[in-house]
Amino acid sequence: MQIGIHASVFTGVFDDPGLRRAIEGAARAGYDLIELPIMRPEEYNVALTRQLLDDNALGVSASLGLTEELNISSPDERVVRAGEDYLTRVIDILQELGARHLVGVIYCPMGKQALPISEEGLRNGQAALRRLSDRAGAAGITLGVEVVNRYETNILNTAKQAVEYVQAVGRDNVKVHLDSYHMNIEESGLFEPILRAAEQLTYVHIGESHRGYLGSGTVDFDSMFRALAHIGYDGPVVFESFSSAVVDPQLSSMLAIWRNLWSDGDDLAAHANRFIRDRIRAVETIGMH
Ligand code: MN
Repeated sequence: MQIGIHASVFTGVFDDPGLRRAIEGAARAGYDLIELPIMRPEEYNVALTRQLLDDNALGVSASLGLTEELNISSPDERVVRAGEDYLTRVIDILQELGARHLVGVIYCPMGKQALPISEEGLRNGQAALRRLSDRAGAAGITLGVEVVNRYETNILNTAKQAVEYVQAVGRDNVKVHLDSYHMNIEESGLFEPILRAAEQLTYVHIGESHRGYLGSGTVDFDSMFRALAHIGYDGPVVFESFSSAVVDPQLSSMLAIWRNLWSDGDDLAAHANRFIRDRIRAVETIGMH
């Protein structure tokens, strides 16, 4: 397992100093991988990112949420194409960085929808993911569709829905991404959905119920780590936390980050690294797999 951290713990701005702060911060806190939110691909200094990853011996992945203008699940073909072009640019950057995963709400806009998804929109999104999976596959990249709560998508709110969705897409490198923060809102628990998604699970986010310090909210992490051990999960486990102390001009508002849950990202990161590794170690000792 690779233990990772979302860059928004360290910076909301991905200019050169922001990249340095995030990548060096993740390495210093003891992580194996950093997840970069690539909301604006034109902003990334790819050469510097690569250099910093090498210097700090850190792996990398990327996540994003689409906007309405880039919605590949739109009934409007022009919008679908714009979204596909954007995701293609991100995939190309990830290939240069040597990333293995592009995850998150890559299949629709992130935000509360007024209506259920239409059949046409659903089909358009799945067809776009099939086309994108060819390019991603050639670059050794798996696409993970993140299951999020009802206020952030009208397509995938549960692991069961996501398993059916990726089966309908029908590509080996389009898989399921689960997040404890969202599971805590929508699922019956943290154990069964992971078992249900076992064969399709490619990426895991670890977040507390209020997205702050792990262990200070209501998420049942013990069940989650037991389930991951039970299925022999070996992919990335990435800590995700947001506070109004670190603001990404686009992402923070999309995610409704209005509260200051922490101000010291370095302390938060080191704490989460210990928390995750301690639980993985604990469940290893009972030999579930
Ligand atoms: Mn997440």
